[in-house]
Amino acid sequence: PPNTVADIRKSFLDFFASKGHTIVPSSPLVPANDPTLMFTNSGMVQFKDVFLGTDKRPYVRAASVQACLRAGGKHNDLENVGYTARHHTFFEMLGNWSFGDYFKRESLKWAWELLTEVYRLPPDRLWATVYIDDDEAYDIWTKEIGLPPERVVRIGDNKGGKYQSDNFWMMADTGPCGPCSEIFYDHGPEVAGGPPGSPDADGDRYIEIWNNVFMQFDMQEDGSVRPLPAPCVDTGMGLERLAAILQGVHSNYEIDLFQRLIAAAARETGTDELDSPSLKVIADHIRACAFLVADGVIPSNEGRGYVQRRIIRRAIRHGYKLGRKTPFFHKLVPDLVALMGEAYPNLAANAARVMDVLKTEEERFYETLAHGMEILDHALADGQRELSGEVAFKLHDTYGFPLDLTQDVCRERGVSVDTAGFNAAMERQKNQARAAGKFKMDRVLDYTGAGNTFVGYDVLETQAKIV
Ligand code: ATP
Ligand code: MG
Ligand code: MG
Ligand code: MG
Repeated sequence: PPNTVADIRKSFLDFFASKGHTIVPSSPLVPANDPTLMFTNSGMVQFKDVFLGTDKRPYVRAASVQACLRAGGKHNDLENVGYTARHHTFFEMLGNWSFGDYFKRESLKWAWELLTEVYRLPPDRLWATVYIDDDEAYDIWTKEIGLPPERVVRIGDNKGGKYQSDNFWMMADTGPCGPCSEIFYDHGPEVAGGPPGSPDADGDRYIEIWNNVFMQFDMQEDGSVRPLPAPCVDTGMGLERLAAILQGVHSNYEIDLFQRLIAAAARETGTDELDSPSLKVIADHIRACAFLVADGVIPSNEGRGYVQRRIIRRAIRHGYKLGRKTPFFHKLVPDLVALMGEAYPNLAANAARVMDVLKTEEERFYETLAHGMEILDHALADGQRELSGEVAFKLHDTYGFPLDLTQDVCRERGVSVDTAGFNAAMERQKNQARAAGKFKMDRVLDYTGAGNTFVGYDVLETQAKIV
């Protein structure tokens, strides 16, 4: 069966082309004409209006390999990176779609055929979940495909609210949504974790690989659902997770592509701790940051640019932790381009600019990083369990440490951060600035990077508007 990332991409698209699907290129990480969505977080984003019935395509079946980013939006996996075997910020999603054409039966049967006949996954390692009342999907799995009922799990509203379920997919708080059926792979008893639906399902033994969403509804602001004009299918499978299985490894970070990025990160940071979670974080973040720049996002103090800045600074801080005291992150770009430039020509075409933008941001942050880390180390020297909001705010306001970066450091040391205190300090400063008749734009323009790094009061407000 296919094994490398490149072979997997191709075999996936070939399979769905043979089933009458039109192959569609990956769309940019910044969704076109969609101010409500921060980043493309799944393959269906470029088809959102097709599901809503306001856009028409010359085909009713499509397949793609989509570049996705799950950081700073509704689907945010930034905090998982370095902690689970299966989460990235940037990843590639293999997907196939039916726009009012086929529905549950074909979708599930083709998924099964691809996994067991093309990729030759052992059927007894596969599990499926369905939404609690989706008898149709349950019966297709058990009666038509022949998956034993013990390995087909019904999952209800397990996330505390109506339609708040692992098996009810929503792109955002509103828009196309519906029940789904997910396929899991059992990595075997040597990995910790329980089957889907069990209390320890969050482990890395049973890994979710493929989500088959049956789009039937358009979620309204008030939480009610309206039927979509025509039921559709939207599927997504994580390329890196599939590659891990096909390459016989238990973690996404052990696949060929990541091993090379990790080796490059070790080379540039000068570490020989090859198992360090920091190397995984850096390898993950270079993909996110390079693709963001290539797709037109530059680090800034609000919105998408601020998410970009936060990811870059986290990566730099991990390099610093490994002992690297000067800019290194941008030097990973050529390694990334060598690995992904062929599949993503836009990345290759923008490589020089990507390096430039990252380098500038790195140089800027290195001016305050060491001093900020000293303050943080000092504040934590007494072994307390919580960092004060005042210190977190000072780090943010003066040293350019986004709150989540400070939290990332604290989490490594088993310390929490007083976020209420942080918000209060932020609010106080804002009021003082207002009272002094200062406009926030003055402060933003005042950004010097040196000793006075201002990261924007209105960042949190801006983010609240975009999911
Ligand atoms: P998980 O429960 O593991 O966080 P998910 O349910 O959030 O995954 P979906 O929204 O269903 O994921 O996305 C479809 C598929 O995309 C998943 O089945 C998985 O294979 C892949 N995927 C999702 N999030 C990530 C990620 N952060 N990194 C890598 N692959 C991912
Ligand atoms: Mg998730
Ligand atoms: Mg899931
Ligand atoms: Mg899922």
